[in-house]
Amino acid sequence: MEDVIIIGSGCAGLTAAIYAARANLNPLVVTGNEFGGQIATTTEVENYPGFPNGLQGPELTEQMKLQAERFGARLEYDAVVEVDLTHKPIAVKTYSATYETKSLIVASGATPRKLGVPGELEFTGRGVSYCATCDGFFFKGKELLVVGGGDSALQEGLFLTKFASRVTVVHRRDQLRAGPALIDKAQCNEKMSFLWNKVVTHINGDGAVKNVVLQDTVTGDRSEAKVDGVFVYIGHLPNTALFQGQLEMDHEGYLIVDPFLHTRVPGVFAAGEAHDKHFRQAIVSAGFGCMAALETEKYLASLD
Ligand SMILES: Cc1cc2nc3c(=O)[nH]c(=O)nc-3n(C[C@H](O)[C@H](O)[C@H](O)COP(=O)(O)OP(=O)(O)OC[C@H]3O[C@@H](n4cnc5c(N)ncnc54)[C@H](O)[C@@H]3O)c2cc1C
Repeated sequence: MEDVIIIGSGCAGLTAAIYAARANLNPLVVTGNEFGGQIATTTEVENYPGFPNGLQGPELTEQMKLQAERFGARLEYDAVVEVDLTHKPIAVKTYSATYETKSLIVASGATPRKLGVPGELEFTGRGVSYCATCDGFFFKGKELLVVGGGDSALQEGLFLTKFASRVTVVHRRDQLRAGPALIDKAQCNEKMSFLWNKVVTHINGDGAVKNVVLQDTVTGDRSEAKVDGVFVYIGHLPNTALFQGQLEMDHEGYLIVDPFLHTRVPGVFAAGEAHDKHFRQAIVSAGFGCMAALETEKYLASLD
C-alpha cells in the first residue's frame, strides 16, 4: 500500500515528489512516457528562478528528480493506463504493475497541439515554439509567424510584437475566433499582419527556421514565406482521459479543483497543467505541485 502516488514527472509531479518525500510520505512517481514533461522538450529556460544564467529544460527536470530522490522519492518509468477512484484504496494500473494507494496526485499535464507538418519536430526549440512568454525574448528584431485564430494566438502574437520586427498571424479561415476587443487591438498594432485562408504545410531551415510553405485553403495555391520563427497556438490537450467519468472536468477536459487543489474525490489532488490552462509556466506548475503535496500530507494525517 502506497501513501501517495504521483502521476507525471513534469515540474508539478517532481515538485510534489520533493515535498511529499521531505514529509516522509515515500512517494511513488509514475513518470509517464515523457520524463520531465513539456519543459524537458525545450532547450534554453531563462525564467525559472534560481538559475540566473538559464539552463536547458532536461537539466532542470534532472535536478528536480535528483532532489526528490535524495529524500526518498521512487520513480517508475512507466505510464498509468487505468485508475479506479470508486473505492479506497485507490487502484492505479500501469503497463507493468497494479498499485494500491491511499492518495493520488494527478500531475499528468497537457500537450500542446501540433501542426503535424514536416520540419515541426526537427525545429522545435530552434525556431518552432509553443510559448511566447518562454521564447519571445530569443526573437528580438526577427520575423515571426503565429499560427492560430483564437484568443491565445492573438494574445501571444501581441506579446511577441515587443520583440519581433514583424508578427504575421496565419489563420486557416477568413475570420478569427478571438474576442472582438483582442481583434481590434491586434489589427491596430502596426507590427502585426494577417494571412487568411492559409495553412502551414512545411517548416524549412538549416539549423534554424528559415521559411515556411503555406497552402491556400480555398484555391490550394502554395507559396513560401521567409520567417525566423513559428509560434503555434492551436490549443492544448490536457492529459486527463484516464479520469473521464471519475473526476469532474470542464468541456476541454481540464480537471476541476477547489483553491486547495482537491478534486471531488477525497484524497485525489490535481497539480499543474492537468487543471491549469491559464498560466502554463514551469514555475506555476511547480507551485501547484508543492500545494498538492502539502494538502496530501494533511489528508493522510487526517486518516490516522
Ligand atoms: C516547447 C516548450 C517550451 C517551454 N518553455 C518554457 C519556459 O522556458 N519557461 C516556462 O516557465 N515554461 C515553459 N514551458 C511551459 C512548461 O513546460 C509547462 O508549463 C510545464 O512543463 C507544465 O508542467 P506540468 O508538470 O504541469 O505538466 P507537463 O510538463 O505536461 O508534464 C506532464 C507529465 O505527466 C506525464 N503523464 C501524462 N500522462 C501520463 C500517464 N498516463 N501516466 C503517467 N504519467 C503521465 C507526462 O509524461 C509528463 O511527465 C514550455 C513548454 C513547451 C511545450
